[in-house]
Amino acid sequence: MSQAPTASGDKSSLGKAFQKLDLEGHDLPPSPAPSSPRNGRKYALATELVYTEGTDQYNASSVPIYQSATFKGIGNEYDYTRSGNPTRTHVERHLAKIMSANRALVVSSGMGALDVITRVLRPGDEVITGDDLYGGTNRLLKYLATNGGIIVHHVDTTDPEAVRRFVNAKTAMVLLETPTNPLIKIVDIPSIAQITHATNPSAIVAVDNTMLSPILSNPLDLGADIVYESGTKYLSGHHDLMAGVIAVNDAALGDKMYFSINASGCGLSPFDSWLLLRGIKTLAVRMEKQQSNAMRIASFLEDHGFRVRYPGLKSHPQYDLHHSMARGAGAVLSFETGDVTVSERIVESAQLWAISVSFGCVNSLISMPCRMSHASIDAKTRAERNMPEDIIRLCVGIEDVDDLIDDLSRALVQAGAVTVSVENFRAINAPSTGPASGAS
Ligand SMILES: *Cc1c(COP(=O)(O)O)cnc(C)c1O
Repeated sequence: MSQAPTASGDKSSLGKAFQKLDLEGHDLPPSPAPSSPRNGRKYALATELVYTEGTDQYNASSVPIYQSATFKGIGNEYDYTRSGNPTRTHVERHLAKIMSANRALVVSSGMGALDVITRVLRPGDEVITGDDLYGGTNRLLKYLATNGGIIVHHVDTTDPEAVRRFVNAKTAMVLLETPTNPLIKIVDIPSIAQITHATNPSAIVAVDNTMLSPILSNPLDLGADIVYESGTKYLSGHHDLMAGVIAVNDAALGDKMYFSINASGCGLSPFDSWLLLRGIKTLAVRMEKQQSNAMRIASFLEDHGFRVRYPGLKSHPQYDLHHSMARGAGAVLSFETGDVTVSERIVESAQLWAISVSFGCVNSLISMPCRMSHASIDAKTRAERNMPEDIIRLCVGIEDVDDLIDDLSRALVQAGAVTVSVENFRAINAPSTGPASGAS
């Protein structure tokens, strides 16, 4: 089956998600028994997230933390935690199922995951990637271009034809992120995967799925060869650990990833593996609430005349494309005020909204990417990539949505971004000046 999951998240798309699941575990090193659906019966993702089965001798409901560097004996399943640890294996098996993958591997951070993935590159290899990338991704690619002889092409990946122009026999990897952040641009994964593989079957299409998480999107089902995520964000959900996840279907590719992890020693620690597993169990409820809050807030800002970027809004130019690939819009949005100082004042005036980088946490965050998460991209490059310096990013949490809107309203008024009317207001600086609803 090649059709994309539908926006309504119908059962067939979820069934498909487990098509390649290695139910018996024969294709992998022995590990704690997977929490597998029975033959022919598929559980929905929300069920799979919380359902885990172990082989624990005491039937512990929560997987034990094997806080041990070594394991005694010769030729056993585990000998040294850099190479393998039962707690880590358990979360890996759990994630493989949820990410619709044959194999998942967990490492110490999202950037650690990209580091492992890019270790398959050789000097002279070409990488095609986007022009609105996560700042850390940009930095690592720049390092590889400077020190590793890798040729990196930054193109507008929202246009598959732009990618086509660069794919050739030397293309080793196409690295995609969707939605991008903070510009919230959507990238057509199936088209780009098809274009890439048709021209160069050995090129790897890797997708950073951090913005959506497996509850909303499974890029491996859309034609990607590798999907990776920062587990620091939605998967963990509480900003209390750093982790990275890599998932693949191809066994040889999985072995290559494992080799680098074992060789460099970046596998996730037993305690963090356990903490990650705990976070994953509430992913569905968190995302549901965060997403509905985000939708309310995006509509609120749009209604007041701000230019809002959020794939949940019909006004998003790639609304249909996004929903052809994903089961929801996520909980990260951005908006512009038209004035950098006004934006700075809004961010500083917010109380409930914490000023912080990152996203995916249960509490709401506000930031100015050009000052924070994307500051490692120099101003000139930001300008070339049409990144508005005044853009504000909101990462919506699980709080009461009226409290969030109330706090944001107050910040907008304090910053002078809106003119106050009796009980409503409208944007005065926003670039797109649609009629403000309810304003006097
Ligand atoms: C945070 C993030 C990363 C990096 O993950 P870390 O866990 O912080 O190393 C990569 N890609 C995206 C889209 C991210 O948001």
